[in-house]
Amino acid sequence: MLAGCGEIKPVYWIQPDMRFKIGRVELEIVRGDITTQGTEAIVNAANSSLMGGGGVDGAIHRAGGPKIKDECAKIRNESWPDGLPAGKAVITSGGNLKADFVIHTVGPVWRGGNSGEGRVLENCYRNCLELADGEGIGSMSFPSISTGAYGYPVCEAGRIAVRTVIEYVSSKETHLEKIRFVLYSEPDLKTYEAISEKELGRRL
Ligand code: ADP
Repeated sequence: MLAGCGEIKPVYWIQPDMRFKIGRVELEIVRGDITTQGTEAIVNAANSSLMGGGGVDGAIHRAGGPKIKDECAKIRNESWPDGLPAGKAVITSGGNLKADFVIHTVGPVWRGGNSGEGRVLENCYRNCLELADGEGIGSMSFPSISTGAYGYPVCEAGRIAVRTVIEYVSSKETHLEKIRFVLYSEPDLKTYEAISEKELGRRL
């Protein structure tokens, strides 16, 4: 059993790069660093300032260079002077990254689970997917939003992440052909793998 995951069992014998098909869309669960992904877009677990921070956010700004921050500053000035609210998403170029685009979203801070955190986290994933789709993006990578500094339990967050992606790609025509979850630690990887296998059954 994974801590806090209820009936979900880990799948220790499976190598990274677990893949599933949801209709025409491929879902991949990999262990790695979001900044090195070769998908067209990567998602940043940003904070509302959009000016960088720790974790994923810091890594993306360090690897992507100042262009991303300049574009974020412009977005702040023009559209979100008080900061990007949790659950919303905006897009910039990828600067020096392999990815052409970075989609910045602000996850909810975990406050025990009774403050609407789930709905906000769902909004993050859905708004990122919609934004990518609107730009005609074919492949994107997500980190595990909110499960670092923002303290969201990874089992709960992973379930929302995986279910929201499945719901999105199952309910409409999409340009997206590949969606990847990139987990930084082995336990997080195992958790997302177990959740995906439970939600989707047979893998490729
Ligand atoms: P949040 O503030 O939304 O919680 P964090 O960046 O603190 O975001 O953490 C989100 C998750 O991303 C955590 O599980 C953390 O371990 C992981 N993480 C940190 N750096 C990277 C990276 N370079 N690539 C992928 N995942 C990362």
